[in-house]
Amino acid sequence: MNILENKEKILDKIQDACTKKNRSSKGVNLVAVTKYVSNETTKNAVLAGVEHIGENRIEGLLEKKEYLKEMNENVKWHFIGTLQSRKVKDIINQVDYIHSLDRLSLAKEIQKRADKTISCFVQVNVAEEDSKHGLAVKEVISFVDKLKDYDKIKVVGLMTMAPFTEDESVVRNVFSTLKQLQIDIQRKDFPHAPCEELSMGMSNDYVIAVEEGATFVRIGTDLVGKEF
Ligand SMILES: *Cc1c(COP(=O)(O)O)cnc(C)c1O
Repeated sequence: MNILENKEKILDKIQDACTKKNRSSKGVNLVAVTKYVSNETTKNAVLAGVEHIGENRIEGLLEKKEYLKEMNENVKWHFIGTLQSRKVKDIINQVDYIHSLDRLSLAKEIQKRADKTISCFVQVNVAEEDSKHGLAVKEVISFVDKLKDYDKIKVVGLMTMAPFTEDESVVRNVFSTLKQLQIDIQRKDFPHAPCEELSMGMSNDYVIAVEEGATFVRIGTDLVGKEF
């Protein structure tokens, strides 16, 4: 795995997608998802210039953060997996971003345990797949509104995962729906929810996501590979 080479390829594709849509690629952040790779490979990703690391398991994140502690000032840590309320205390003060805020019970626990304001993405299950977490689109605005009572939570944006399908129009429609929802939330001018970011796009679909407005793409396999 040549992570540097992979990264250059991905950044080129992101650049092309941005050029096509007349946006600046500076607004797109690459999150390396390291759930399938070792500590060593994660370190190689940081040495290759990756500035954001995403993990979907608490143990994985804590272990990698400890392993990389000498480099930590160069890295932002993203928790991208389902977060059980009882585990919030183990991780909340170790991360820079949570991508999976999807219920008030979780917000309440974050409020109780966080030492500082946490940048959160509200997870949206745009396609309403049973296998995925997240709020239905129609639930999101009232949910975001209720988050104003939790001053440790800053809603920086929305996150979604597209269905796993070859049908590009389905995927594109999911991402453009999330973009429209972001615009609707921004119109509300909620002080606690600037909602400037969109976390969407993985190895299979990040080009489409960037074309539709992603500002954080979460890439595992195509960037750092899959070791286990
Ligand atoms: C695993 C995972 C990714 C990355 O998946 P790849 O297909 O390997 O790029 C992105 N987001 C979430 C939430 C994940 O769990």
